[in-house]
Amino acid sequence: LTGGLEAAWSKLKGEEVLTKDNIAEPMRDIRRALLEADVSLPVVRRFVQSVSDQAVGMGVIRGVKPDQQLVKIVHDELVKLMGGEVSELQFAKSGPTVILLAGLQGVGKTTVCAKLACYLKKQGKSCMLIAGDVYRPAAIDQLVILGEQVGVPVYTAGTDVKPADIAKQGLKEAKKNNVDVVIMDTAGRLQIDKGMMDELKDVKKFLNPTEVLLVVDAMTGQEAAALVTTFNVEIGITGAILTKLDGDSRGGAALSVKEVSGKPIKLVGRGERMEDLEPFYPDRMAGRILGMGDVLSFVEKATEVMRQEDAEDLQKKIMSAKFDFNDFLKQTRAVAKMGSMTRVLGMIPGMGKVSPAQIREAEKNLLVMEAMIEVMTPEERERPELLAESPERRKRIAKDSGKTEQQVSALVAQIFQMRVKMKNLMGVMEGGSIPALSG
Ligand code: GDP
Ligand code: MG
Repeated sequence: LTGGLEAAWSKLKGEEVLTKDNIAEPMRDIRRALLEADVSLPVVRRFVQSVSDQAVGMGVIRGVKPDQQLVKIVHDELVKLMGGEVSELQFAKSGPTVILLAGLQGVGKTTVCAKLACYLKKQGKSCMLIAGDVYRPAAIDQLVILGEQVGVPVYTAGTDVKPADIAKQGLKEAKKNNVDVVIMDTAGRLQIDKGMMDELKDVKKFLNPTEVLLVVDAMTGQEAAALVTTFNVEIGITGAILTKLDGDSRGGAALSVKEVSGKPIKLVGRGERMEDLEPFYPDRMAGRILGMGDVLSFVEKATEVMRQEDAEDLQKKIMSAKFDFNDFLKQTRAVAKMGSMTRVLGMIPGMGKVSPAQIREAEKNLLVMEAMIEVMTPEERERPELLAESPERRKRIAKDSGKTEQQVSALVAQIFQMRVKMKNLMGVMEGGSIPALSG
């Protein structure tokens, strides 16, 4: 998607104001990019129409170039299309909150059950899972294992009991144990069929759930719109969870959910680990679609991984432009801790898609940097200026670390660039604006 849209903006370079004529070509690019991202056609049509209308009627805004204007309109419209704000999970006023998960087979329902429990546990809520997929014994075992992994009890009744009865018994058990949140896993089919819908309706009747969340694989293409519509009409959903956002997906499904059902995406799954579930931020998703990278998610993740005091310390340093090689090491190690490099690189603005070769390259670079920092004196680590000023020091570091002087110079240049970048990033976090749009 990114490539297509960047081309779209570039076509407006040199223009003074957005007109019906000069937006025609960029709008075609945007349309094509959205269709390539598997957004369904009616959604694309409405989107393009709405953006065009706004763009032409906008006139000249002082200090804002037409291409920036169009980016802003497209961004805001994307955010709107995806629900605008973060949609929080709802909780029952009294008694246990019941969350029913539905969706096709293989989309990640069972995984989401455990991830969601892990997520809610962190918020201090006690959870219980109900194994409702009675068609595959392995599905029950899978949930039991995942439940153990996140330390949450799982109610099972084998494969001979009807899901609606399992729901009823499970809920009774949850009430007895004063559980805050009950999450019920259900069976999926490869395709929507009547049996599945009837079963879900039955289960829903017994559970009277606070949330009915449709789990949607981010890879779902054009058919996402029809899928969401059917589930919403048949059983009535309160929202969706988009899974496998870490994969190769174009994310088109994200744009369809709210548009066709009026129900928001509430959470996203970004990996196979139990911690990989996050709130869905429409503005970040829009930024990501527009190719600005998932800057804020990245920063948030990095902060969470680093110990709190480290983070505060780091923040102070960044603000005062004192970010040094010690922080650099701490940061790169924190980043390494975050798991796969793919994911992290994908979140960095401008990186776009990364190939395995690029990942290996990046990991190699980290090792090279660490080797050079290791042979620095404590004073040099704290004051990168010393290295900027002294070719002799750089020469010594190159010799001691077995790297070239060019590599040392590049590292020194990089830390100064990082100071600038991080300062900008802090500005973004505080002001909540989008880097590409300001100024
Ligand atoms: P279900 O049939 O809907 O219950 O799907 P499962 O929960 O069994 O998941 C199917 C497969 O998708 C499993 O191998 C999961 O590990 C994987 N999976 C689930 N969520 C994610 C995700 O967010 N990212 C990735 N990469 N894999 C996921
Ligand atoms: Mg399952």
